[in-house]
Amino acid sequence: MSPDSDDCVVVGASFAGLACASALARAGLRVTVLEKKSDAGEKLHTTGIIVKDAIDQVALLDGMPGSLVHRVSGVRLYAPNLRYVDLAAPGYYFLATDTPDLMRWLAARTEDCGARIAYRTPFSGATRVQSGFEIEGHGPVRYLVGADGPKSSVAKALGLGQNREFLFGIEHEYAGVEIGDPSKLHCFIDRRIAPGYIAWMVAGPRVLQVGLAHRVGRQEITAIDAMNAFVQKIAPIIDLRHVQPTSVRAGMIPCGGIVSPVAAPRVLLAGDAAGMVSPLTAGGIHTALKHGLAAGHAITDYLEGRREDPSTWFVRSYPRFTAKRALRFLFDRFQSDVLFNLFLRTRAVRRAASIVYFHRKGVFDPAAEQPAPGGAGEIRR
Ligand SMILES: Cc1cc2nc3c(=O)[nH]c(=O)nc-3n(C[C@H](O)[C@H](O)[C@H](O)COP(=O)(O)OP(=O)(O)OC[C@H]3O[C@@H](n4cnc5c(N)ncnc54)[C@H](O)[C@@H]3O)c2cc1C
Repeated sequence: MSPDSDDCVVVGASFAGLACASALARAGLRVTVLEKKSDAGEKLHTTGIIVKDAIDQVALLDGMPGSLVHRVSGVRLYAPNLRYVDLAAPGYYFLATDTPDLMRWLAARTEDCGARIAYRTPFSGATRVQSGFEIEGHGPVRYLVGADGPKSSVAKALGLGQNREFLFGIEHEYAGVEIGDPSKLHCFIDRRIAPGYIAWMVAGPRVLQVGLAHRVGRQEITAIDAMNAFVQKIAPIIDLRHVQPTSVRAGMIPCGGIVSPVAAPRVLLAGDAAGMVSPLTAGGIHTALKHGLAAGHAITDYLEGRREDPSTWFVRSYPRFTAKRALRFLFDRFQSDVLFNLFLRTRAVRRAASIVYFHRKGVFDPAAEQPAPGGAGEIRR
């Protein structure tokens, strides 16, 4: 290895990759993030809602500018017949974000930690060598992280596990449109429009975001037809039938749990690439951030000779999502509009929904014991 070569290359400048790179860089390691886009805020495929747990637990988000977020303090959950219940938990909230600018802010924060981000630089392959990898077009590196999303090129190139089960999400942005209750996340259950998941509407800091996701392979209509049907359906709440969306976001969401193998000597997958997404709620931002940070700390320990390669001990700490995968199995097969119309407003269903939305999300808390020097990048309890 030349003295100028990187200790670690991270592929993907999104939540997992930036978190991982910031932890490595703060520990004094040389790290480059390879990103195929020309800017971290370009062509996003996420609604970008951040749960309170991420704000509480991930110090990397400290100081997030207030202009980038809009606080959402509860959920309005609609049955297929549009009757609804309002759900909230004391002190709990979500943050809807101006996600493009949030990503730019996170990328700048990561560079401030000392990481280099190489934009317009797609990962195209790597060859294993004695001391790590030779990255095509880049050079030698001691450790490689694939934080390159649900269809990871790193996983493919190095024979690691790949996601096989997906939801597909599509979302329209509307500028200059206001909804009646912008302090709520509006969620819609409808098996025809969003089989296996929900449709939603949320007021972000700059735009109204209206979207849906469905289980790939179980939908009877295309995502575009489903969006049209959804816009028709919510017309009594907000009439968007003649409003052109200013932008569209769409993408795959892994929902089959952790891929296998998720790591090998000197390489590991992080965030969506690893399948680190709740199979039930499909929320992946807070897990990507926490997984990226914890992976950064684990790799630092390895490269500085304090622990074994994280492809062994660290991977064993991953959540199995057993209960959530079981619930996903049941929801995929037995979702019933009739039952939701009848029972949504019962105490039992309201309680179950509140647990899904507001339970404390606690993966990777053990890493809180090993904060990066300097605090930022640390995971708090
Ligand atoms: C429509 C939709 C809405 C969603 N809404 C939410 C939400 O509100 N809240 C929530 O918690 N989760 C949400 N999710 C899930 C969430 O977006 C993901 O779990 C999260 O973005 C995962 O982050 P990541 O860093 O692992 O991967 P990604 O965000 O997918 O980032 C991967 C990065 O790798 C780059 N990349 C890919 N291939 C290469 C390559 N070969 N070379 C270089 N770079 C590469 C990509 O350009 C990208 O920047 C949503 C998902 C979808 C599809």
